[in-house]
Amino acid sequence: MSNIISSYINGNHRTTIYTDGTKVKETGYYVNEPGPKGTRVNRWVETDSENFIYEAPENITIKITDFCNAGCQFCSEGSNSATKHADLSKLLPMINSFYPGLEVNITGGNPLAHPELITILGILKARQIIVNLNINQIHIKENKDLIKKLIDEELIYGLGITLHDAHCKEDFKFIDKLGDRVVIHVIAGILNRHDLPALQGRRVLIQGFKNTGRGKVLFEKYKKEIEKNISWLQKKIPALHSMCKIINFDILGFKQINPARVLHLFDVPSDSVYNIDGIKKRDTVGNIIVPDLYIDMPNMEVSISVDMPKENFHKITGQETISELLNISTL
Ligand code: SF4
Repeated sequence: MSNIISSYINGNHRTTIYTDGTKVKETGYYVNEPGPKGTRVNRWVETDSENFIYEAPENITIKITDFCNAGCQFCSEGSNSATKHADLSKLLPMINSFYPGLEVNITGGNPLAHPELITILGILKARQIIVNLNINQIHIKENKDLIKKLIDEELIYGLGITLHDAHCKEDFKFIDKLGDRVVIHVIAGILNRHDLPALQGRRVLIQGFKNTGRGKVLFEKYKKEIEKNISWLQKKIPALHSMCKIINFDILGFKQINPARVLHLFDVPSDSVYNIDGIKKRDTVGNIIVPDLYIDMPNMEVSISVDMPKENFHKITGQETISELLNISTL
């Protein structure tokens, strides 16, 4: 039976997160009223609402570095070894507004290369933040001890590993020892049939192909092949659905693959479900209805998603609370 990791009120609803990863969101509020023997108790009152309304973000993705020596041709961030790490002391004022149960994804560049990674993860753990770290398989070999430490000391809750070499038995032997909280990230347009056996029985996140950074150059050069690979992946979704433990999609992956239609769940254009460019951020009276925040620390910018067009990014000082940042991102 799974236990509750955290339960908190955000806007018009309560969010409860369980140890098996289940998240339950219910609209309502607590009433504090007289209880037995002169005590006071909180009673939950359910309400009906069209949208979840947010006063603070529910998920935050924080890019902590642009540094990376892997040189992937599809790198949407254009990360390279000439760029510097973000100064994470600038995160500290913001972290004071983090609440227990907030989900934080740490990304890069190569976040394992950041010299302050363990310090910042320790601070987040002390505040009961649920941290997921995103790395690339290419960095496993040189960081095995560090990765093991992060998991053993519960400095991270989950680990996302972007597939680099589906045939490297040594890496997958190591991954298999890390437990059930590893998710293999694959990129639509890059994933091909030779990679499929490595995904058998695993948790998989399908990310969309990002036409930014070096990914833009690659797309211009190999547009036909990338589009062909995306169409192939669309056809393979039912097979992946059966062979993987769980498959999930990021917003761009959902848009490019449209799994709901492929799996005959419901037949609508993916744009009408997740329209990144025209995503609705507020309801008719101005309440915030998006739960996500993306913070680019090296460039000190914020948006609701890494996939938003550049004009939707806003400069920040690092002194803002996360509620203020969500407000700025949704204006
Ligand atoms: S995709 Fe990831 S591993 Fe590859 S260069 Fe970019 S940051 Fe590095």
